[in-house]
Amino acid sequence: MNSQDMAIKGDGFLPSPRVQELRKKLLNFMEQHIDPLECEFVRLAQSDKRWTIHPKEETLKEMAKVQGLWNLWIPVDSATRVENLFAKDEHKSWLLGAGLSNLEYSYLCEIMGRSSWAPQIFNCSAPDTGNMEVLFRYGTAEQQIKWLIPLLEGKIRSGFAMTEPQVASSDATNIECSMTREGNYYVINGRKWWTSGAMDPRCKILIVMGKTDPSARRHKQQSMILVPIDTPGVHIKRALTVFGFDDAPHGHAEVVFENVRVPLHNIILGEGRGFEIAQGRLGPGRLHHCMRLIGAAERGIGMMVKRALERKAFGKLIAQHGSFLSDLAKCRIGIEQARLLVLEAANQLDLHGNKVAKGAIAMAKVAAPNMALKVLDTAIQVHGGAGVSTDFVLSHLWATARTLRLADGPDEVHLGTIAKLELSRARL
Ligand SMILES: Cc1cc2nc3c(=O)[nH]c(=O)nc-3n(C[C@H](O)[C@H](O)[C@H](O)COP(=O)(O)OP(=O)(O)OC[C@H]3O[C@@H](n4cnc5c(N)ncnc54)[C@H](O)[C@@H]3O)c2cc1C
Repeated sequence: MNSQDMAIKGDGFLPSPRVQELRKKLLNFMEQHIDPLECEFVRLAQSDKRWTIHPKEETLKEMAKVQGLWNLWIPVDSATRVENLFAKDEHKSWLLGAGLSNLEYSYLCEIMGRSSWAPQIFNCSAPDTGNMEVLFRYGTAEQQIKWLIPLLEGKIRSGFAMTEPQVASSDATNIECSMTREGNYYVINGRKWWTSGAMDPRCKILIVMGKTDPSARRHKQQSMILVPIDTPGVHIKRALTVFGFDDAPHGHAEVVFENVRVPLHNIILGEGRGFEIAQGRLGPGRLHHCMRLIGAAERGIGMMVKRALERKAFGKLIAQHGSFLSDLAKCRIGIEQARLLVLEAANQLDLHGNKVAKGAIAMAKVAAPNMALKVLDTAIQVHGGAGVSTDFVLSHLWATARTLRLADGPDEVHLGTIAKLELSRARL
């Protein structure tokens, strides 16, 4: 029994009855609709039609909407920001999720993390959630109508293009992509990579970070601009792979922007506000990754136990070997520790906002991927050769977890944040 199950029984960390109900619904949906189709989705994504969408994905999305499992990630305060937009169209208010806090959503996001296919079925997938958050918080009404609503409806998808191959992009002040004003347009030139989602045929819009004024103060040089992916001059150069996985049909692209012209009103919030937006975007997004990693680790430990109870080596079940028992126990401790840290960070985010919660978020962002890697590595070990093959989901879950020691900030950057906060407290 893990802490979530204990919580359901009322032993502490109790999610509200509504969240318990949603959790039950979500688990049923996963078991009945996503788990049985996972192999089919993977087969298509490994075929020569890898960059197309399996028709059943769209069917499942419609079912998730009907069951009230759509856009659950949207925090109440974000939903409130766009109430006016829906005032004349009340039947669309269901697009704004279930009015959950980040803490409440943690219990649900974790479940989605058990399968890499699940989050998008519920419109809770990165980078769309982060991009929608940007539009909720900083978009104009016009930008929200044009891009946020279709994203909320799940009709289109999006990408976030910040990282560049030629500079250390963990320090976003290094970004070189230029955004120059010419008459009524910005002209964008630069090369990006690891733009997740840009290969997806449903991806219609990119949020691009670049420099509008290289002579301004260090953190005021950058801006974010909305760039429709079909704008002339946007060249998708190639799909990158993570240890050989290309994550089709979603993908991670290298994208070149060559004299790309977009109207001035495509800028988000204003020139020089890129860093400010990045702060708003990354806090909840980082935590969502952590929540999903706990789900991935739960799946790993479940598979590990099942395998160890089925397979014999040297005359006894793997589960009867002492080394397995201590490895298993350590994995369980790791999962519970990381989950509590993530719940604490989500609660701080709800109660005090991004700025105050940044230490807890940084701790969760370091702890969760490292824990998931350890658990998944142990599960792989218990599976023997099967564990490293693509016949089992473990290798893909591990590869994804490994990227999250880098993506949305490498461990070292978060460790730096944690240490600075610790030192500043000591100096008080
Ligand atoms: C699968 C995947 C998906 C991604 N999706 C996106 C996306 O959708 N959009 C996007 O823009 N980017 C995306 N990224 C890019 C990711 O955010 C960057 O890789 C990350 O920010 C690191 O930047 P970098 O690769 O330039 O590494 P660098 O900045 O070159 O850093 C390399 C290493 O330097 C060390 N280092 C850096 N800073 C410090 C420090 N302060 N102290 C000590 N050591 C340090 C760390 O070991 C770090 O890993 C994705 C990456 C992956 C792998």
